[in-house]
Amino acid sequence: MKLGDAPWTAIRDALATGEPVVAILPCGAVEAHGPHLPLATDVIISDGMADRAAAMLETQGIRAFVLPALAFAPANYAAAFAGTISISTAAAKAVLIDIAKSLREQGFACLAIANSHFDPANVAMLREAAAEIGALGLAVAYPDFTRRALASRLTEEFVSGACHAGQFETSLVMADRPELVDESRRSALEENPSSLVEAFARGATSFAEAGGPHAYFGAPRSATAAEGEQSFERMAEALANAVHEALALA
Ligand SMILES: [Zn+2]
Repeated sequence: MKLGDAPWTAIRDALATGEPVVAILPCGAVEAHGPHLPLATDVIISDGMADRAAAMLETQGIRAFVLPALAFAPANYAAAFAGTISISTAAAKAVLIDIAKSLREQGFACLAIANSHFDPANVAMLREAAAEIGALGLAVAYPDFTRRALASRLTEEFVSGACHAGQFETSLVMADRPELVDESRRSALEENPSSLVEAFARGATSFAEAGGPHAYFGAPRSATAAEGEQSFERMAEALANAVHEALALA
C-alpha cells in the first residue's frame, strides 16, 4: 500500500498492532535518459520495485508501506542535459536521515531503500546514509545493485556497465509506463556499448566524457516489457530479502 494514499489512521492502526511495519522509500532522480525515455525514469523504476516488494512482503506477513518517492538526487553526470536536476549529496543525505528519524520516532521497524539511480555520488551517499540510519537505531534494508553479488542477478547489459537508458532500463519503463517510451526514437537508436562503470573508474565526470553524447548507454532497441517485468521481480525480491535480513538483525 502507498503511504501517501492512506489516511493517517491506517498507519496508526498498523503501528499499534505491535507487529513490525516497514516503510519503503523509492529513490530516483530527475535525469536525462536518452531521447526516448522520460526524465523521471529512475523514479518509475524505483516505484515499480517498491510496489512489487511491498506486495511480496504482505504475502509473507509483513506490513509494508511505500513512501512517496524521493525524486531529486545527485545527478552530475547528466547535468549538461536540459531537464536534469542535480542536488548536493549533503542535501540528499540530510533528507534521508530526517525521514528515517521521523519513521523511527513513530515506531516503524525498518526503512527499505529502493534505489535505481546508480550515479556514483548517489550510491556513495546512500551507503553513508544507510550506515548512519542504522546507527540511529532504525533497521535499514538497502540492496546495493552496484555490488557484484546483486548485479549478477540482473541482466547481462546491467553487469556490463553499458547501462543507462539502454535495454535494461528501457525494458523496465516499457513494463510499467509504456506510454512514456517514444517508440519511433527508440527504434532508431544504435547500440552504445560504452561502459559507464569503466568510465567512472577512469575518472570521467559526464555522460559525454563517458561516451554517451545522447545520454544513453546500451541497447534500447533490444528492450522488451517482458524483460522489464522479470528485472522488476528480481529487484523486488532483493529488496524483500534485504528487509527480512534487516528485521532479523534488529
Ligand atoms: Zn536510470
